[in-house]
Amino acid sequence: MALQDKDRIFKNVYGFQDWGLEGARARGAWDGTKALIEKGQDWIITEMKNSGLRGRGGAGFPTGLKWSFMPKSDPRPSYLVINADESEPGSCKDREIMRHDPHLLIEGALLASFAMRAHACYTYVRGEFIREREQLQAAVDQAYAAKLIGKNNIHGWDFDFYIHHGAGAYICGEETALLESLEGKKGQPRLKPPFPANAGLYGAPTTVNNVESIAVVGDILRRGAAWFAGIGKPNNTGTKLFQISGHVEKPCVVEEEMGIPLRELLERHAGGVRGGWDNLLAVIPGGSSMPLLPADICQDLTLDFDTLSKLKSGMGTAAVIVMDKSTDVIAAIRRIAYFYKHESCGQCTPCREGCGWMWRVLQRMERGDAEKREIDLLFDVTKQVEGHTICALGDAAAWPVQGLIRHFRPVMEERIERHQAALKQAAE
Ligand code: SF4
Repeated sequence: MALQDKDRIFKNVYGFQDWGLEGARARGAWDGTKALIEKGQDWIITEMKNSGLRGRGGAGFPTGLKWSFMPKSDPRPSYLVINADESEPGSCKDREIMRHDPHLLIEGALLASFAMRAHACYTYVRGEFIREREQLQAAVDQAYAAKLIGKNNIHGWDFDFYIHHGAGAYICGEETALLESLEGKKGQPRLKPPFPANAGLYGAPTTVNNVESIAVVGDILRRGAAWFAGIGKPNNTGTKLFQISGHVEKPCVVEEEMGIPLRELLERHAGGVRGGWDNLLAVIPGGSSMPLLPADICQDLTLDFDTLSKLKSGMGTAAVIVMDKSTDVIAAIRRIAYFYKHESCGQCTPCREGCGWMWRVLQRMERGDAEKREIDLLFDVTKQVEGHTICALGDAAAWPVQGLIRHFRPVMEERIERHQAALKQAAE
């Protein structure tokens, strides 16, 4: 069943209404925030756990559990860091929150920071998001002026909200690279452990959360964990901003319930696949790093963490990229491989060398200029990159190639055969 309007959290996702404080208040933000804070840290964390919210940045780790890892008494300050470095190809939801409903994020940040005993929050905004950063800053200024945040605010928890903008490197969306960059260093991922909850920003306890994960906090606490947990499917609860792009009639960002069938999502909100459902070739369900799924698997596909991981793909950021039958699927994955090659920070050999190697081989495979046995070799290389690097960019580069080989090997073989036949004919 589709999400009902009464259950929507993001009521201004298209920016038709006032983004400012007045508009946000009319939509329910900042309503009873003080009363929520007065219920205490433990209550907030328990509610978040009970809501079943899983991180919306891609990994899907339970948000309440993550918050509970923060120390309760530590001489060092605690920090909340919001990851607004939205750079995964296909993803475009956090920008809509920042420019059209920024007060949801600021209120959520106050509540989350209070729950983790943090008095400061840093939001790291993707460098290219200039307007979004300006809009968020304007909303922060409104919140300070209304004494909703800052020292001696009306909520009784001193809290500062700082905005930092990046310089456009994809890798700074990785939480530890983000922290390095925030500290003024080169944005390169750190080895874990230590995890940020032990030693994060400036060596102090830190939790890094995605924009959407924080923006839903106010509504979850106001309406109750049971309300949020009642939407979607068990272990995959709540609402989610889906971003639909590619070969659909009307690409869009839309809030829907977790676990919605792919076909329903596309036909209800995006005008369906270009040329009709039967013209579907494949779907990347969660942003470019997630392995694609061919049309036959998509027939009854539901979009949630567990279903997609069982299919060896993933929910990621819920950036649904649709490819119709006009797509050269090898070229599409070759282009994605180039992206990861370009964005590799170069610290680990498997990622630095492997990403370029995979891209170069795919360039040849796109032309068919390869041997069939190289398909297995390519798969083998993806396995040598996956899981053997400091951060998940290595996995992100390997998975799309694995998806291609898993589901479209006959297309790759046919391309090679065609190329070899053409060569033979030319020689004759
Ligand atoms: Fe850098 Fe790639 Fe290693 Fe991540 S996996 S740390 S991006 S080289």
